[in-house]
Amino acid sequence: MPPVANNCETAQKEIEGIITMNTILLDPDRLFPADPSQRDIARDLYHDIKDLPIISPHGHTDPSWFAGNECFADPSTLFLVPDHYLFRMLYSQGIGLESLGVPRIDGGWVETDMRKIWHTFAANYHLFQGTPSSLWMNHVFYEVFGMTECFCSATADEFYDQINTQLATDAFRPRALLDRFNIEVIATTEGAVDELPHHRAIAGTPWAKRVITTFRPDDAIDPEREDFIENVARLGELTGEDTNQWDGYLAAMRYRRATFREFGATATDHGHPTAFTADLGKAECEALFSRCLSGGASVSDAELFRGQMLTEMAGMSLEDGMVMQIHPGSRRNVNTELFRKFGRDKGADMPSATNFLDGLKPLLDKYGNEPSLDIILFTLDETTYARELAPLAGHYPCLKLGPPWWFHDSPEGMLRYRHQITETAGFYNTVGFNDDTRAFLSIPARHDVARRMDCRFLATLVSEGRLRLNEAGVLSHELTYNLAKQGYKL
Ligand SMILES: [Zn+2]
Repeated sequence: MPPVANNCETAQKEIEGIITMNTILLDPDRLFPADPSQRDIARDLYHDIKDLPIISPHGHTDPSWFAGNECFADPSTLFLVPDHYLFRMLYSQGIGLESLGVPRIDGGWVETDMRKIWHTFAANYHLFQGTPSSLWMNHVFYEVFGMTECFCSATADEFYDQINTQLATDAFRPRALLDRFNIEVIATTEGAVDELPHHRAIAGTPWAKRVITTFRPDDAIDPEREDFIENVARLGELTGEDTNQWDGYLAAMRYRRATFREFGATATDHGHPTAFTADLGKAECEALFSRCLSGGASVSDAELFRGQMLTEMAGMSLEDGMVMQIHPGSRRNVNTELFRKFGRDKGADMPSATNFLDGLKPLLDKYGNEPSLDIILFTLDETTYARELAPLAGHYPCLKLGPPWWFHDSPEGMLRYRHQITETAGFYNTVGFNDDTRAFLSIPARHDVARRMDCRFLATLVSEGRLRLNEAGVLSHELTYNLAKQGYKL
């Protein structure tokens, strides 16, 4: 309580005088270089691109929001309960997920008083100082909801009431926010056996062009998932293919890819523990698949199967033109007790070292020189940027680099990315920004951070005589808009 109150008091004193409160709360020059001449260049570049439409080609918003267009619930349910970026930080300071209203698998007690949960968030908001979460939340508070005070215990009720009131209005329904946020297109992400009810509901309406799905078949590709066998069986039911057989399983995958394309999908996504790929003969694939389906797959069988399936999926992308995203290197559910109590996606996934060069070799030997294949690589291992990823993307025609991901989707992470990949991969082997979020209201904030950081990087190159100002102007448009549209075939 004391440090929070002090922060508030300090800010209240600062706003006395000629500077408006909003300027203090949300610096218009935030994230630009401190050097005045570089800052001027960055500000000019940003001015020209800040209002471009948002292209959101990869993310995890809930498609039911856009199909049903219902008002969002209270601020705690909207911001805190589903957002592992936020509650993991509170958990790291000893605040139990139960007290934050995160549902338990066993149905055990969790806090249901949403105002009380909001107070816990407010009292601990200082924990996010210096993190991208505070940049995003402050943007949401001051730009989206027009709040004019610091967020802390003293203002928690006022924030809760004002946000709650606005959320109940038509202007804050999901479709109205898509318009207000100037989101030209947003991709959700669904599993291989998802029947896409919400995308079906908007099919044939103008919204179907703006809200598209993405095919993420991990649930029927990873033999280590507890529901793998069940999902492969369901895949058979959905497609009429015999998924007990390797050929039928592959045919079912092709079938589902085609179904997803009917609902706008231009891309697939693969969240594997490593970047390992394989290129086995058919007999080996059949034997491996049957071991996986029998439940008797070893750890190395599971890895081999996932690796084979990445190569199969690359082959299918070559056939049907879908862009293939690979998100490797997240060690999932590291905290066993938390996983047992609360399940997946609870802030206990950790980055791990990733070997792209050896891992991707079988896939690249087979398909790497195909100019019509599009594979976008992401990493949680920043040591691979200059050593592996930029050289790979700077050589193979099928490879592009996705933006800084997850832990590295931050101002410093974006600078590290540009500094380490640009000299080998350039700008045109990248695909713009992904917000990769389930926090819908933070999407403009996240894109704004990326736009500011790109302008900052370009301004530095201009000021050092490494790029002409007119070239930087073109690049700022490319990075903000064109490369995302082209990279994802939107
Ligand atoms: Zn994602």
